[in-house]
Amino acid sequence: MNIESLLSHFDGVKETGYGKYVARCPVHEDRSPSLAIKECGDGRILLHDFAGCQTEDVLAAVGLTFADVMPERIGTEHSYKPLRSRFDARQVLECISHELMVVSILAERYAKVANDEDDKRLMLAASRINTALKAAPPLRTPPEIKAIRRAA
Ligand SMILES: [Zn+2]
Repeated sequence: MNIESLLSHFDGVKETGYGKYVARCPVHEDRSPSLAIKECGDGRILLHDFAGCQTEDVLAAVGLTFADVMPERIGTEHSYKPLRSRFDARQVLECISHELMVVSILAERYAKVANDEDDKRLMLAASRINTALKAAPPLRTPPEIKAIRRAA
């Protein structure tokens, strides 16, 4: 499948660079396009939803499979496995959320130099991160990690 026909399956498509696009993710309620689509030199098309939806689900939602984003060639000389990132979106956001708390505590300590405008902007940043966190898929925490958290 070429990039044009793939893009025709998605809404809100915008070109962000050479062979790079964003679109609205069909799996979650996606007001600002969070689905990145990239055309690779080898004929593959990579999709990544920054909100954390699985590419397989994104493709399925528009009636496609991985086979549709693979180069059209006979045989299987290259088997393609989608890469799983080591951290999912929720883990990253939870980390950012925690760091933001640290920042806000420090900001309070230095409040002498901060003004209302800074304060409002900081609150906006916090609420945006929380919104992103809510949009992230539920974290499947391994039982051993849960045990560590309970012990802490
Ligand atoms: Zn999504």
